[in-house]
Amino acid sequence: MSTNEATTPSDFIRDIINEDLKNNKNESRVHTRFPPEPNGYIHIGHAKSINLNFGIASQYKGKFNLRFDDTNPSKEEQEYVQSIIEDIRWLGADWEDRLFYASDYYDRLYDYAVQLIEKGKAYVDDLTPDQIREYRGTLTEPGKNSPHRDRSIEENLDLFKRMRAGEFEDGARVLRAKIDMASPNLNMRDPAIYRIKHESHHRTGDKWCIYPMYDFTHCLSDSIEAITHSVCTLEFEDHRPLYDWFIDEVGAYHPQQIEFARMNLSYTVLSKRKLLKLVEDGDVDGWDDPRMPTVSGMRRRGYTPEAIRNFCERIGVAKRDSLVDIALLEHCLREDLNLRATRVMAVLEPLKVVITNYPEDKTEELEAVNNPEDESAGTRMVPFSREIYIERNDFREDPPKKFFRLGPGREVRLKHAYFIRCDEVIKDDKTGEVVELRCSYDPESRGGMSPDGRKVKGTLHWVSAAQAKKVEVRFFERLFTVENPLADEDFKSSLNPDSRRVLTSCLIEPFAAEAAPGTLFQFMRQGYFYLDSIDSTAEMPVFNRTVSLRDSWAKIEKSMKSK
Ligand code: ATP
Ligand code: MG
Repeated sequence: MSTNEATTPSDFIRDIINEDLKNNKNESRVHTRFPPEPNGYIHIGHAKSINLNFGIASQYKGKFNLRFDDTNPSKEEQEYVQSIIEDIRWLGADWEDRLFYASDYYDRLYDYAVQLIEKGKAYVDDLTPDQIREYRGTLTEPGKNSPHRDRSIEENLDLFKRMRAGEFEDGARVLRAKIDMASPNLNMRDPAIYRIKHESHHRTGDKWCIYPMYDFTHCLSDSIEAITHSVCTLEFEDHRPLYDWFIDEVGAYHPQQIEFARMNLSYTVLSKRKLLKLVEDGDVDGWDDPRMPTVSGMRRRGYTPEAIRNFCERIGVAKRDSLVDIALLEHCLREDLNLRATRVMAVLEPLKVVITNYPEDKTEELEAVNNPEDESAGTRMVPFSREIYIERNDFREDPPKKFFRLGPGREVRLKHAYFIRCDEVIKDDKTGEVVELRCSYDPESRGGMSPDGRKVKGTLHWVSAAQAKKVEVRFFERLFTVENPLADEDFKSSLNPDSRRVLTSCLIEPFAAEAAPGTLFQFMRQGYFYLDSIDSTAEMPVFNRTVSLRDSWAKIEKSMKSK
């Protein structure tokens, strides 16, 4: 990610860092990290955090780590680790040789726990999970001390060793921090530090049957990595006193935690747990379904890292939670695709047109500009012949007012080609459906130029029948029908049943069908499309519609300005 001076963002986090640098805190180092739990694929909210952390590290010529906080063997899988690595790399963040796992620190974390016990700051508790919950109290009532809270240091050391040795069943005992059962902050009421779980871990295998809890692991891993600024989301604000406690009690290096607001996006959900539910229930095809707000889903949809980065920068970092309009994300996407997508012609619902005065055996190649926004994209040749296809809805037998496309007796321009006039409409005898148009072309209008100054109002896209390739095109709508699905008790109740529409008889000019999977196009008048690299086959390329051409955000912005 470049950090062009002119566009360098400024926000309250950078203000804090500037201040720290002025005071030579941390010997003026800046070291950030992204610490995912490998329990799902990352989504656009994570992308925002990655962009922020990596952006800060690059801006201050500091370092950026990728660390998996892999403390929960039962919910974690190698598949998630792989996908997260791939997605972050695709987003453009670079951790160089600093890919870490909290599980790499299990030995040190164990030692820290022993240190706490030795200081009389941790104890082994025999209460059941239910009892622990009961003893914890509520927001309005203080908790109660466990009867095991005052065990001797020796007994605690012995029990903890035996927990590690596998002498006890899952849930039989936990190691807890000895803080304050009456603290107004529930996180400080003797939280668990270690639990027994006789389960294999994706990295440490069967070495351990006790695992450190997330809170204990997360803050100490930041400390071990000497992270200077531990940027995280607001829900961890209440955990900060606990993190400070752990770090201070073991006497380790103290990173500074800074919280910012989680990003929420309209018409979707940003929660790995909820996204997993959609995957498990088969509501989507998988984590990388193009309708998903996951980075893999967005990639398959045709999003670019640049568009996502631009979006993250435009929304900035806030201290209060907000719901960002998905129209802004799509606006950033269009801005980017407009510059990079090659314009091609694809007919989604084809209607045959025979150009009766065009020679039967002739094919000519017409020059087409690849991208009017980018001269360096050059031109390509598009075949033209006597039989072509146009879009079915570009013809109306009885055209209403303001319909400037084709109708009986009307003349239109075929993009890059010729003027044609519709002379005859052929229908199916039985159904009455229009099945073919007979048209004549004006040979003097080559390239779509008017030969004599006469004007036509419509310009249509088309493909030549003989050379066009059949392709599948998938259209996506919003995954949910309401802005904030989480406002409903059951977030799935507003799942959009029509979020995907598939057309299987689309025709496209050969140039685009032969492109490499992963190529982005603008189908003229139809939107931006991405040649799917997973479902496409040699016989049937599959295009995903990335986004339509109509920019609702531009309209919103305009109306905001005029107010
Ligand atoms: P989810 O709620 O989707 O399960 P999580 O917070 O549990 O996400 P983690 O893997 O723990 O997922 O997150 C890694 C980092 O990403 C954390 O620092 C977290 O604060 C940040 N993050 C997660 N969701 C968002 C979001 N919506 N906006 C900004 N940052 C986020
Ligand atoms: Mg989390």
